[in-house]
Amino acid sequence: NNVNSEDPKSLVEYLDEYVIGQDESKKAVAVAVSSLAVRMKTGDETLPKMNTILIGPTGVGKTYMMKILSQKLGLPFAQAKLVGRSTEGYKGQNVSTVFDQIYSKTKGQEAPYGIVFLDEVDKLANDEWGSGSGYGSRIQKELIGWVEEEIISREIGEGASRSQYQLNTKNLLFVTAGAFQGQGKRDALTHIISQRLAGGKQIGFGAAASRADDHQFLLSQVQPVDLISWGFLPELVGRFPVIATLNQLSEKDRICILTEAKDSPLDGYVRLLAARGYTIQDYHQLAGLIVSRCPPETGARGLSSVCSQLFRNV
Ligand code: ADP
Repeated sequence: NNVNSEDPKSLVEYLDEYVIGQDESKKAVAVAVSSLAVRMKTGDETLPKMNTILIGPTGVGKTYMMKILSQKLGLPFAQAKLVGRSTEGYKGQNVSTVFDQIYSKTKGQEAPYGIVFLDEVDKLANDEWGSGSGYGSRIQKELIGWVEEEIISREIGEGASRSQYQLNTKNLLFVTAGAFQGQGKRDALTHIISQRLAGGKQIGFGAAASRADDHQFLLSQVQPVDLISWGFLPELVGRFPVIATLNQLSEKDRICILTEAKDSPLDGYVRLLAARGYTIQDYHQLAGLIVSRCPPETGARGLSSVCSQLFRNV
């Protein structure tokens, strides 16, 4: 089937084949990525770049939808965590390796088009996450520069093959993601939103927000000002015009991922068995069994490993 990369609707339809639910976010990223495609086609660099913040729990499709789109459009994709242990051992030390990834896929291009996905952006809020070194605001400032336009100069390779490259960031679409949950003394983003909605008065929203639906409702009301209250620099928030939220996956969603989504982890195993002459009698029941063995808070992450264990025994 043909996908028109400049048409957001066409991209949403394509995403629908792979990604279950998350309609609002699919729409948001389809608009952002198709706009990049328009910019690429027209060569008009004055067109806005729709850098995006994706808010949602782990394993619900944030990375997945961006990967699928970049693959379909043939755009190089690079990804890194903004904090956490890297291969180099230091916090955030590997962030600029996203440019190495882009460079190695687009060699020779001065200002390549591509998608840079940066996870755990919520942890840059301030130092309550335990770094105490101003790391968060330093990376925020660095991000502001990249997102605007910057010439990156880096060395890659080892020994004799070591070389330097330069790359202009102006045509890269930046997508950042995070769960924005509370931790320790820090309130969850939903708490900040409910406070704003309540106009500073303490009303019963906080307790209500413990129910999943209300949690989702609150997140859907997120405004740039909430992200500033969270601890982001206004200049950073201002450079991410698209904010979209993703839902926790329900049991029904997760069954759907197994039974209906293209590239479902279950599908591969079923075809392996089919090639040996076996068929599954009750696909839906099997999917339910697999889902029941995965903790809901891992989103869709556990599905593939449960399938693997189950089919090993079969
Ligand atoms: P995160 O939201 O933490 O970025 P991912 O997008 O990487 O998580 O999801 C992990 C894996 O789970 C994906 O590679 C995909 O196989 C599956 N998955 C997650 N969410 C969905 C979804 N909504 N529909 C279909 N598969 C999904």
